[in-house]
Amino acid sequence: MNVLPPASELQRAFDRRDSTYDGVFYTAVKTTGIFCRPVCPARRPRPENVEFFATPREAMLAGYRPCLRCRPADTVRDRAPEVERLLRAIEADPSGRLRDADLRRMGIDPSTARRRFRRHFGMTFQAYHRARRLGGALAEVRSGAKVIESQLAAGFDSGSGFREAFARLFGAAPGRIAEERAPGRGAGRAAAKGCLVARWIDGPLGAMLALANDDGLHLLDFVDRRGLERELGRVARRFALVPGAHPLLDRAEEQLAAYFRGERGGFDLPLAPRGTPFQRGVWSELLRIPPGATRSYAEIAARLGMPKAVRAVARANGDNYRALVIPCHRVVGSDGSLTGYGGGLARKQWLLDHERRHAGGAPDPVTAAR
Ligand SMILES: [Zn+2]
Repeated sequence: MNVLPPASELQRAFDRRDSTYDGVFYTAVKTTGIFCRPVCPARRPRPENVEFFATPREAMLAGYRPCLRCRPADTVRDRAPEVERLLRAIEADPSGRLRDADLRRMGIDPSTARRRFRRHFGMTFQAYHRARRLGGALAEVRSGAKVIESQLAAGFDSGSGFREAFARLFGAAPGRIAEERAPGRGAGRAAAKGCLVARWIDGPLGAMLALANDDGLHLLDFVDRRGLERELGRVARRFALVPGAHPLLDRAEEQLAAYFRGERGGFDLPLAPRGTPFQRGVWSELLRIPPGATRSYAEIAARLGMPKAVRAVARANGDNYRALVIPCHRVVGSDGSLTGYGGGLARKQWLLDHERRHAGGAPDPVTAAR
C-alpha cells in the first residue's frame, strides 16, 4: 500500500516529467485506457483525462493496461525472452486463464518463466494476470451509473460489457435480471434479490469494491486484497452483478469517507446474512471490538466459548470480505503482532494507528475491566 502525494504535486511532477517521481506514482489516461510512468515520452493528455495511481497493480485493477513505450510495470528495462512471451500470452487474452499446461503447450517452461517474471515485475505471473483480468470487469464497475443507464435505455437483455466481463471471469451470471428488477424503482436500482449492485469507491488506502442489495451489504473490500477474485466468483454464482446506484451504497460511501476523516469509528450499515454459523459468530464478536482497541484471536475464541478454536477464528477472520465495517483489522496476535490481513499489513497498521488517534481517549471497556 502506497499513499499518494496530493494531486496538485502529482500533476506538477507529471507536467515536468520529473524523474525523481519515477516509481512514486503512475499516470493513467481515461481516453486511451493506458497507464504510464510520469516520465513517459508519450504526448501529454489533457489534465481532466488523467488519473493517478500508487502502484502498477492498482492501475491494472482499475482497468488500465501498461504503456508499451515506458513499460510502467517493469522493474528493469530488459526483458528475458520468457518474460516477453508470458506477457504476450496475457495481453492476447487478458480475461483468460493460463495454466502450466497451457504454457508448456506454448513451449514455455512454466517454473523458469514464472520465476523470471516475478523477478522482473516484483509480482507473480498469477498476480499480474489476475490484476489485468479483474481490471477488465472492475473498469465497468467504475463507469457505474453510466453503464446501467445505457442498459436501461437499451433494455437489459442487450447485455452490458459489465455482465459480459464478469461472465467471462466467473461463468454466466443468472439470467434473471429482467424479471427480477422491481418495476417503477429509480433508475439504475436493481432491487431484486437475484442482483447485487456493484460500486467502486476510491479512498486514501486505495480503491474498494462494494456489493449490496436490499438484504444489506454483501461485500466491501480493497480491490487488490488477497482472495478477492475467488470471493467474487462465489458471489457471482449466486447473484448477477450490475454496476449502479443503491441507497445502501450511498450510505456506505458516506460512512467510509467519514471514517477516513476520523469522524466515526464504526459503521451503521445493514449486513446481508452471509457465512457459516461459526463465521457469523466470529464476525459478531469482531463487531464488539471498539475503535482504537484490539483483541487477540485467542480472546475471540474464548469469548465464543471455544478456547481451542484459535486457528478457526483466524480463518473466519480472514474470510471476512466486509473490511472496516466488520473490523477484522482489530484482531492481532497474542503478543500484539499484526499477524495477517487480507488487504496487507501496511493497511492494517494504518487503520489501527488511525483509530487510536481518533478514538478520543475513550477507554476500551474490555481492557479497562482487565
Ligand atoms: Zn508510457
